Amino acid sequence: MSTAHALNTLRDRLSPSERMPLVFLGHGSPMNAIEDTAFSRAWSELGQSLPRPEAILVVSAHWMTRGTTLVDVSAMPRTIHDFYGFPEALYAETYPAPGDPQLAREVVTLLASHHAGEDDSWGLDHGAWTVLKFLYPGADVPVFQISIDMSRGLDYQLDIGRALSELRDRGVLILGSGNVVHNLRAMRPGGKPQDFALEFDTLFADRLADRDLATLADRARLGNLLDMAHPSVDHYLPALTIAGASDARDDLTFMTDAIDLGSVSMRSFVFHAA
Ligand code: ZN
Repeated sequence: MSTAHALNTLRDRLSPSERMPLVFLGHGSPMNAIEDTAFSRAWSELGQSLPRPEAILVVSAHWMTRGTTLVDVSAMPRTIHDFYGFPEALYAETYPAPGDPQLAREVVTLLASHHAGEDDSWGLDHGAWTVLKFLYPGADVPVFQISIDMSRGLDYQLDIGRALSELRDRGVLILGSGNVVHNLRAMRPGGKPQDFALEFDTLFADRLADRDLATLADRARLGNLLDMAHPSVDHYLPALTIAGASDARDDLTFMTDAIDLGSVSMRSFVFHAA
């Protein structure tokens, strides 16, 4: 294919289209991928209501980098089984969607001021594929991940979201995968939700609904409650990316707002362009 033809093809593909929604899913346990749970059922239902995008960009809690935001430019992202001690059946799962190297390289350019770089070794970690298999079970929409830069403040991830938001008008669905509360040390399997988990989860939902994104990214104001909800912020950052890519014209819908295992919020949310 000639360069001119390739560019035209890309332009046609990425011509203005319906503004894509933004999705954040609380992914929780990898077992949701192979079990019929309230969460996996909700993800399937959501998938049936979503438009078919040209491509999906995933920001997952499980791809952490420092000093850079990496973008996976591989043609066929591998399925990564990045967990230990789970049943054999979970390791047999694959999500064979193609990548989108051309668009991924454009995203590197879009995030140039965020020290973005190309990567061709990551693939799809379980934050991505365990939910994608319910959203788009055919694995026929191109998908690629970007990493979260753990060396930056919370507002940096809001900013990444803002930079990515223009992709929504070019047929790209941006999917964040993490958890609004994620403290594995405070888990109580089968037990009732921890007070701090309920408190942070409610605060997050209220501030997001009010579009008070500054508070959601303000460590000083969130104080100890943030440290309790997120001993490490990896599962929080993708929620901030999605919030950052939203704007006042979007309608916000929450789903699966439950605390699982005492200290893992499964709250998910969708921004639909009004
Ligand atoms: Zn996780």
